[in-house]
Amino acid sequence: MRNATPVPIACDLFIGGRWTASETGRHIDVLDPSTEKTIGSVADATPADALRAVDAAAQAADGWAATAPRQRSEILRRCYELMVRDADALASLISRENGKALCDAKAEVLYAAEFFRWFAEEAVRIQGDIGMAPGGASRIVVQYQPVGVALLITPWNFPAAMATRKIAPALAAGCTCILKPATETPLTAYAVVRLLAEAGVPDGVVNVITSSTASKVSNAILEDRRVRKLSFTGSTEVGRILLRKAADAVINCSMELGGNAPFVVFDDADIDAAIDGAMVAKMRNGGEACTAANRFYVQRAVAAEFAQRLASRMGDLVVGDGVDPRTQCGPLVNAAAVAKVGALVDDAVRKGARILAGGRALERDGHFYLPTVLTDVPPDADLLGEEIFGPVAPVVVFDREEEAIALANATEYGLVAYVFTRDLARGLRVSERIESGMVALNRGLVSDPAAPFGGVKQSGLGREGAHHGMLEFMEAKYISVAW
Ligand code: NAD
Repeated sequence: MRNATPVPIACDLFIGGRWTASETGRHIDVLDPSTEKTIGSVADATPADALRAVDAAAQAADGWAATAPRQRSEILRRCYELMVRDADALASLISRENGKALCDAKAEVLYAAEFFRWFAEEAVRIQGDIGMAPGGASRIVVQYQPVGVALLITPWNFPAAMATRKIAPALAAGCTCILKPATETPLTAYAVVRLLAEAGVPDGVVNVITSSTASKVSNAILEDRRVRKLSFTGSTEVGRILLRKAADAVINCSMELGGNAPFVVFDDADIDAAIDGAMVAKMRNGGEACTAANRFYVQRAVAAEFAQRLASRMGDLVVGDGVDPRTQCGPLVNAAAVAKVGALVDDAVRKGARILAGGRALERDGHFYLPTVLTDVPPDADLLGEEIFGPVAPVVVFDREEEAIALANATEYGLVAYVFTRDLARGLRVSERIESGMVALNRGLVSDPAAPFGGVKQSGLGREGAHHGMLEFMEAKYISVAW
């Protein structure tokens, strides 16, 4: 079943509140990963187009920064309401360009909308400090000001939520921005910005550009000294390139990068809860999530039962077109993703892993890989060290708590970890020792607009969501006052 969607399927760039063609008039095709058919196109921006977007954001900056927080709050609240109003149409669009199952897409839209609601509430809570200097001669007054024009770069795996998780705090803080979404899923970003305009976001406050030459347009933007902030979500590899670039202009950076989440199950865990948690942590978005459980470490006494039950649940999932409401697992984003997942599974099997479910791509149109569970996975299997970004769960047995912690920490990443145990003291002890920005204890999900989302080690810098998310778009101004 393919739902009609009311949002436009051919998009120009959105600059200064107007839809405008790119300098060259060229477009980029957008494909449906379920069918490999073209479903739309977006304008292909050049560096000159990108600088037009900087002009628009810079011109709107002072006016937006001077807007009363209450007014910004009310506009953001309206963005939330409009996104909820259009949730079904947006979900259908996300399913079509990203491939994820409609149920996942709907959940994403509602999650994405929550960032507008949360930051509508935070916009009126910009506080400062006042204190006496220790020497007694002055007062220390600290206030928070918007950092300025921001470049927001987002990935394809959560095309709505990764955009709103940046736009909402930027606007709440009083910043204007240029959003550059991934070329795989640009239609959602344009649909969101259309709603923002309807909600009353003034011209130039949010600009959207798409480009087949991401590095050229980003470099042009980052070389413009009016740009003061880079907020990036994507791979660690690209994050490193952008950090180097941002260093030249000493631009304030927030980086949400890759993950390699361990999922640790102790033998005292509630196994039903652990299986339910594993299904969410692994299969939300078909495994294409930075928070996806990448390595399952299960204590010996329950390992065989856990692996069998997980294989049975994974094997029962309905795999199909993203927009078909019966689908529980859609396609991967493109052919390269299927090839990568296939290579990782084949490598593990070659090194001794056993397949309990799946283990192969589906032979049909679209980019499908079957939900897969592997057991007896050897320590040198590549998929334990790399982000799988697909529906594959490798299970590894451990014996002692210390061993589980060491295995969990044996990665350059540190985004999120999952721990299942009925012993709360052990759960908290292990949570404290795992090197990650977030831990889900007896849960398969951490994402919450009211919580600080982010990683340590090579998983990133800074936090999104909570009050922290807004501070990423603000700078502390210290005024030393002779009272
Ligand atoms: P990616 O790094 O390839 O691309 C992300 C964005 O950067 C896209 O908009 C892309 O066009 C742009 N880009 C690519 N090369 C660039 C360059 N040289 N200069 C400037 N921009 C460039 O990532 P992806 O494949 O779109 O997304 C998957 C990755 O994102 C995974 O590693 C995943 O873990 C990560 N991710 C992290 C989080 C988080 O919150 N930590 C959330 C979602 C996804």
